[in-house]
Amino acid sequence: MKKILVVDDNDASRELLRAVLRDSDREILEACRGDQALETIAGERPDLVLLDIELPVMDGFAVLRALREDPRFGALPVVAVTAHAMQGSEEIALRAGFTAYITKPIRPADVRRRVAEILDSKTK
Ligand SMILES: [Mg+2]
Repeated sequence: MKKILVVDDNDASRELLRAVLRDSDREILEACRGDQALETIAGERPDLVLLDIELPVMDGFAVLRALREDPRFGALPVVAVTAHAMQGSEEIALRAGFTAYITKPIRPADVRRRVAEILDSKTK
């Protein structure tokens, strides 16, 4: 059973990602704030995190920074999800330590493929 944490402050976005990622051998967890995401990650140890960049108070970059500073989560796959993609923003996200970068509106097939690739490479 793989655990995936979906972090997004928008209910509809979390629901959509949950539906897109649903699979019999996966447990989908949700968080709607950055601090809540960090708590859930420490407690549940997900295999992969999909992290909205535009979160109130503690944004996706701040959450990622906190994770990368923690030796337990230095290698945890964290995928950035953002509605405000601009020229160069993927490169900035990858340089900051995100594993991959997905733009909203999400393309379900693309999200499924990339998530499967990351989970597969983790088990090898
Ligand atoms: Mg948001």
